[in-house]
Amino acid sequence: MQSNEFRKRGKELVDYIADYMDTLHRRRVTPEVEPGYLAELLPKEAPKKPEEFNDIMKDVDRAIMPGITHWQHPNFHAYFPAGNSYPSILGDMLSNAIGCIGFSWAASPACTELETIVMDWMGKMIGLPREFLHEGGDGGGVIQGSASECVLVSLLVARHLAIRQLKSRLPYTEDGILVSKLVAYSSKLAHSCVEKAGMIGFVKMRQLDVDENFALRGHVLERAIEEDRRLGLIPFFVSGTLGTTACCSFDNLAELGEVCANENIWFHVDAAYAGNALICPEFQHLLKGIEKVNSINFNTNKWLQVNFDCSLFWVKDKDALTMAMTVDPLYLQHKHSDRAIDFRHWGIPLSRRFRALKLWFVIRTYGVDGLQHRIREHCRLAKLFETLVSGDNRFEVLGKVTMGLVCFRLKGSNSLTQKLLKIINESGKLHMVPALINEHYVIRFAICAESASQEDIRFAWKTISIIATDMLARKLSRFDSNIPLDNSSTESFADEEDDEVFPEFDNNIIFDNQRCNLQRARLRRNLFLKMVSDPKSYNPRVLKSLNFELGPRHRSKSLGGTDAMSLSPDFYFGTSI
Ligand code: PLP
Repeated sequence: MQSNEFRKRGKELVDYIADYMDTLHRRRVTPEVEPGYLAELLPKEAPKKPEEFNDIMKDVDRAIMPGITHWQHPNFHAYFPAGNSYPSILGDMLSNAIGCIGFSWAASPACTELETIVMDWMGKMIGLPREFLHEGGDGGGVIQGSASECVLVSLLVARHLAIRQLKSRLPYTEDGILVSKLVAYSSKLAHSCVEKAGMIGFVKMRQLDVDENFALRGHVLERAIEEDRRLGLIPFFVSGTLGTTACCSFDNLAELGEVCANENIWFHVDAAYAGNALICPEFQHLLKGIEKVNSINFNTNKWLQVNFDCSLFWVKDKDALTMAMTVDPLYLQHKHSDRAIDFRHWGIPLSRRFRALKLWFVIRTYGVDGLQHRIREHCRLAKLFETLVSGDNRFEVLGKVTMGLVCFRLKGSNSLTQKLLKIINESGKLHMVPALINEHYVIRFAICAESASQEDIRFAWKTISIIATDMLARKLSRFDSNIPLDNSSTESFADEEDDEVFPEFDNNIIFDNQRCNLQRARLRRNLFLKMVSDPKSYNPRVLKSLNFELGPRHRSKSLGGTDAMSLSPDFYFGTSI
């Protein structure tokens, strides 16, 4: 395609996008296709000859659009918002056109420098202390692809620092042995990416209980650390959450930070969704204790009108980050030669898109005032929805409604709430997903659309209410009961089938890894941990060469005649540390 055609098609596509946005509300929010639908509509082989752009667009309408879940739809209330706005789309378009790969300053100076500037802007907007900013000297921020990457990177930095410290005391102990002693913590409501980071990092991860406000507290962490130290483990990393995925609860940063500082533990804060609201001063009290935090992330691509991907990650100690992520041990000694930030050692990939451009476009187009207005409007609409739910005594709201998320359920019933959600989602009128909070099945109602309005919220509530009335009436008629329908509590027929809910629970949707996902992850991680710390457990040849498995009758010659069985486990697992 040459520039003449690009001009023509580009303009057509911009019109197509604007039409899509303007008419989105007329579509069904979720598609009605079955798995594998697309293979039936597209050829089995790639086209050998060039095709017309018009034909491609025809297939977008015929084959692609019918399989789209419309995340920008005014009736989409699932997960969290997927940030979007015209300035962001335009910024990304320009970034794609420039097409630079900004891994170092020299690879595209504006790409690196704009990123440091907008990271400092954003850091100031959310009230981060100066130590987290580039202009502060030792700290700074970088744009990553996702919150999961930020959490993983922070865990890897913490692991690197912990191993380095241990090595200074135990220089001859294998890294793998030291890693096997490390333990990290989060609340049980932390996003599964924290668990996953632990799994990738080959470290033990403990998920701790939350209080009645679904917050992880300092004394709970303190007790877990004490227990683990007694077992000979080494606590090294805590991931606290501001705005849990299931119910947008907030861990107590001040208490956790205090414990981490006393225990010399890296404290990361995952504020993937809620961090965006910190641009409003009325939410900045949630950062109380930030002085003791080592790193923090949030996703502008969730709630700041920026398209995926644009996850912001700050650290106080950028040298620690660089050291953990570089393969060149002398890097820090020579990096100051050009005094430029070099982002290639701040994350996992080498190649980096020019993501700062879309963020810069958005901040400048709306200004801080405009962005604050949008956040406040979403919070106001969530409160409106909470009032509507609370006014109907068949329903209850679980947890506090602080931001743009409301968790609610039919009183006293997991399986009825699950059935209700299923019917609503099948109707295609609204889309929401569930969560499990302390074994309570709740429906998460998230305010998502960029221009969500009061009418959308009232429509959503009306739809939910009508479907609930109909479903409860059908249930009642089955039981041939006289219990009144409208505005009556469902407790009277709180159900006998709650256990049915759990086996079918789709934890990938729910985000709450309390049950089978957690179980599976534990098994997998245990296996990984064994592989790291104890090669005997998976490699029989190692076992054989040590003569370990053969019992007291077989003495190991390679061990100088020592009875292998009489060696203490510390011989294999390292000395107590
Ligand atoms: N952390 C929290 C608190 C989240 O809510 C989510 C997703 O909703 C994530 C992490 C994962 O985000 P990402 O998809 O950017 O890795």
